[in-house]
Amino acid sequence: MKATGIVRKVNDLGKIAIPIELRRPMGINIKDDMEIYVDEDNIILKKYEPVCLFCGNTKNLKHSGNRIVCTDCINRLVKE
Ligand SMILES: [Zn+2]
Repeated sequence: MKATGIVRKVNDLGKIAIPIELRRPMGINIKDDMEIYVDEDNIILKKYEPVCLFCGNTKNLKHSGNRIVCTDCINRLVKE
């Protein structure tokens, strides 16, 4: 983990702002979903990228309720 030297206060609603100089190079835009991870006493933010439930593919995804499956896996499952 690399220190940025940036310190931000948590506001009354528990929110913090991610500085533009960190968002821009990571392709994080306004209204993007962020995934929150915990590693012992650290909170890690990662740009959310949906992946196929079965193979981890990030392309050609279809949503079924709260599950995400790629078209390759759908086609494979239909054949089986
Ligand atoms: Zn898949």
